[in-house]
Amino acid sequence: MSIIVQKFGGSSVADEDHIRLVARRVCKTKRQGHDVVVVVSAMGSTTNDLLGMANRLCSDPEYRELDMLLSAGERVSMALLAIALQDMGRSAISLTGPQAGILTTDDYFNARIEAVNPKRIRDELLQDKIVVVAGYQGMNKYGEVTTLGRGGSDTTAVALAAALDAEYCEICSDVDGVYSADPRVVDDASRLDDISHEEMLELARYGAKVLSPRAVEYAHKNDLELRARSTFSNEPGTTVAKSHDVNGDGEDSIAITGVASHRNLLWLQVKDNVILDDVAKELTGATLFLDEVRDDGGRDLLVPAKEIAEPEAMVERLGETFGERIDVRVGIGSVSGIGLGVGDSRELLEYAHKLLTDAGVTVHASWTTDHALTCLVDSDEADKSLVMLHQAFIDVEGEPGNEAFRQARAKVNSLAG
Ligand code: ASP
Ligand code: MG
Repeated sequence: MSIIVQKFGGSSVADEDHIRLVARRVCKTKRQGHDVVVVVSAMGSTTNDLLGMANRLCSDPEYRELDMLLSAGERVSMALLAIALQDMGRSAISLTGPQAGILTTDDYFNARIEAVNPKRIRDELLQDKIVVVAGYQGMNKYGEVTTLGRGGSDTTAVALAAALDAEYCEICSDVDGVYSADPRVVDDASRLDDISHEEMLELARYGAKVLSPRAVEYAHKNDLELRARSTFSNEPGTTVAKSHDVNGDGEDSIAITGVASHRNLLWLQVKDNVILDDVAKELTGATLFLDEVRDDGGRDLLVPAKEIAEPEAMVERLGETFGERIDVRVGIGSVSGIGLGVGDSRELLEYAHKLLTDAGVTVHASWTTDHALTCLVDSDEADKSLVMLHQAFIDVEGEPGNEAFRQARAKVNSLAG
């Protein structure tokens, strides 16, 4: 029988009514003849609430205890969903991450999945049960509970889907797919029907919140199809799959598919490489946004503040420990344009840079990666910059709205051609 993994985010299981709706949706998938494994996040803002309580008790709690605490959030929602399913006459069982066979690296708070042993899940599926797994958690080699970094339930879902050889993995949330920009910031953002793993990975890494970068990376490596859809509608949402001709027009043209931003980055300017290992320890597990050699021989590291358990405490600690040898800049944001091959184009980056500076935005740095161009701006200018890039770059009605962009793109295409 084909296996489908369905993941539901925190807002989809925020209260009993929502949990009942989710249960109905899961039953529907089961009725269609699939084996169903469900992964849940903690209810609503539970993870933040728990973290807040810990921080009010202690400004710098031990990560082991944080993981013990935070993993409790997902245990609540998994048990409640199993109970709701049982009430609907389905046999269902909830499993914690460790019970589901998710083995991780040692690091607390930001552990990575090292292996999945899905035997227990398979046994339960054989008994025709719906298996509900707590997202965001696993077990390290000491038998301790670890958590997988914020947004880590997506990673649980993808890892299970890969280990179970699932047909696809559905990521259900309160948004109905992947948009060309965050629709809460950009009014005319449009939903994408499909997108390649590579582009989705860059979008997620550069700030799109709909899927977590690690989950997309895992899906990409395992060639697994993801579907980002709304929990509460039947719309197909966005399919994230192996790259193909995403334009659908057979043209080998470079175009920007989406834009994304971070509002709150920490910029660590390491001036003396002797301290690099110690600084890296502080960032264990976090997704580095940029790691580049500085003109003075040191290193520039950029990391989203939300990936650090207590960013303020860390910044203070770095200052106290390393003094002049490191500068930590806060209040930094970023905007990025993402599309297959965008990094090959200096023109597009230069165009974005000019667009922003002409509008009075200070661009602190800019660079390209394979499928993205990025400009660092002040945090409070990130939203405005995102709107501008979207307006200039996204092809809303068949053509991008801006002549300068058309010219830049024509130049790029002639270079590529
Ligand atoms: N509950 C965790 C968080 O809020 C994990 C997740 O939702 O994916 O980060
Ligand atoms: Mg989430």
